Amino acid sequence: MFFEGDLARLHKPGGNKQIKASLMEQHLKETGGIVHTRFPPEPNGFLHIGHAKAINVNFGYAQAHKGVCFLRYDDTNPEAEEEIYFNSILETVKWLGFKPHKVTYSSDYFDKLYELAIQLIKADKAYICHCSGEEIHQHRGGDAKGSRSECKHRNRPIEESLAEFVKMKEGRYKEGEAILRMKMDMQEGNPQFWDLVAYRVLFTPHHRTKNTWCIYPTYDFTHCLVDSFENITHSLCTTEFIQSRASYYWLCDALEVYKPVQWEYGRLSVTNTVLSKRKLLKLVQSKLVSGWDDPRLYTLPALRRRGVPPAAINSFVRDVGVTTSVTTIDVKRLEVHIREHLNETAPRLMALQDPVKVVLTNLPVDHHETLTVPNKPRDPAMGEHSVPFTSTIYIDRSDFRAQDSKDYFRMAPGKSVGLLHVPYPVTCTDFEIDVHGEVSLIRCHYDNDTPLKKPKTYIQWIADCPQAGSPVSISELRVYGALFNHENPQDKTQVPGGYLTDINPDSLKVSKGALVEVGVWDVIRSHLTSQSECPEEVRSQFVRIGYFCLDKDSIVPTPFLDGSKDPAHAPTLVFNRIVTLKEDVKKD
Ligand code: ATP
Ligand code: MG
Repeated sequence: MFFEGDLARLHKPGGNKQIKASLMEQHLKETGGIVHTRFPPEPNGFLHIGHAKAINVNFGYAQAHKGVCFLRYDDTNPEAEEEIYFNSILETVKWLGFKPHKVTYSSDYFDKLYELAIQLIKADKAYICHCSGEEIHQHRGGDAKGSRSECKHRNRPIEESLAEFVKMKEGRYKEGEAILRMKMDMQEGNPQFWDLVAYRVLFTPHHRTKNTWCIYPTYDFTHCLVDSFENITHSLCTTEFIQSRASYYWLCDALEVYKPVQWEYGRLSVTNTVLSKRKLLKLVQSKLVSGWDDPRLYTLPALRRRGVPPAAINSFVRDVGVTTSVTTIDVKRLEVHIREHLNETAPRLMALQDPVKVVLTNLPVDHHETLTVPNKPRDPAMGEHSVPFTSTIYIDRSDFRAQDSKDYFRMAPGKSVGLLHVPYPVTCTDFEIDVHGEVSLIRCHYDNDTPLKKPKTYIQWIADCPQAGSPVSISELRVYGALFNHENPQDKTQVPGGYLTDINPDSLKVSKGALVEVGVWDVIRSHLTSQSECPEEVRSQFVRIGYFCLDKDSIVPTPFLDGSKDPAHAPTLVFNRIVTLKEDVKKD
């Protein structure tokens, strides 16, 4: 991905022209000529699948060139920033498998940025402006996008701006009463030259610098300068910053500091969801989802909770590739990567969503065999485990029909069907119906007394064998579908009422009373040794049903994990469906 297309044509360190040759000499001295990139999230929300692209591009480009990548929190907007976001962002980056060379904060550089702002004023390239937002809008041509004009503060004496800037810093202006603006070019076609704001007054305490500052630098002032301080060679960002590239270069040159190269790539999103933090927040606040990590969302914490392996996300992002166009990818394409990964790695278990009891009438009541079952058929390296086989078992209700038919191969009266991993098939003899008209018991003959006939179909089953702890109850099996009905819930022509009115009522289906075979404990124990670990790593293919992982709502008391005897409390197992086994074929 990094050695083809536009990315392959990016400059080598040292190849970016500077306003003074000495800047490059200094840069190369400090970096040793290696690639420096950064992933610069604003800590005002959780990362989403789009950020996985940004992470792969930035960390991946550095890795591919044996360089380094910083994780930089772009924390210049104290109003929206919260501690949980900082922690979650770092954890998510690590979860995806990337290790920041260094974790930095834009706020680390507040002193340096302030000094540079003064230097810019002294160079007559910035001034203090007292215009209102509306006045500035008018000077920039107004709604009619008419002619532009300079404001009356623009040409005030340098000394006056310096004094006013100090007053701003000392808190002698209220919010909105004074701003520092860069003296750029009001007649330039690119709006990024219309005297951008560099500093504004904000009386919000900052989570790191607390009450030290009541003025904060803007993105336009901060981003390029911090890139410069950190000797970034390739400042990779999304295409909405194309116009900012020129103002980025302008400021570095105006201050005569080392100037990185900015390069833009297209944002990534997927169908049937929303990613913007503001929209996600609305969904959470209106309780349409259970939180930022509701497994129906495409935030990275949600995908993690849902059991999606990080490797599948990375391979999806790399498969989509890096182009400059904005891409909305069908979520099915992500699912292909998830399945591919899970097919290789997830041990198989037999589980039943809706169990019904089956008695094998010709076996003694206390019949007890131990069968060895591969963790993955035809893949001995994945190991094996054992399950009990007894005279009373459960099968899934959907695998039985009272009325047989020619094209039906599962269990029905008079028909024989295979039980996965069991030596002989069973033939159904009769069944019972309860007061609700539901099948409550099925009777079968275990065909170990006739020559083996290979059945057409095998179904999953679980023995009723309390002394072996079988079956294991699943408190909740959560099956997820698309959260939104429409491919693009934000498109007002598709969804006139807005995305909040487009929720798919069937996007979460919970089944209670499901069962799983005892092999589940091996899978749980191989990933968990205590409550605090990552339940989502307990992934399994429930054969013929789908891929599932353990949800964090599960409670697994220690005796179940260390194998000690007689646990006082039963475990609460909650499983999330990660993906179906095959792509859903939608009916037209
Ligand atoms: P949003 O608007 O979705 O909340 P943002 O752009 O405000 O996202 P930041 O935290 O500022 O998010 O983003 C950090 C980095 O990730 C930036 O370089 C940004 O360009 C990049 N990024 C954000 N969203 C996407 C996306 N959908 N696809 C690719 N890169 C993205
Ligand atoms: Mg942003």
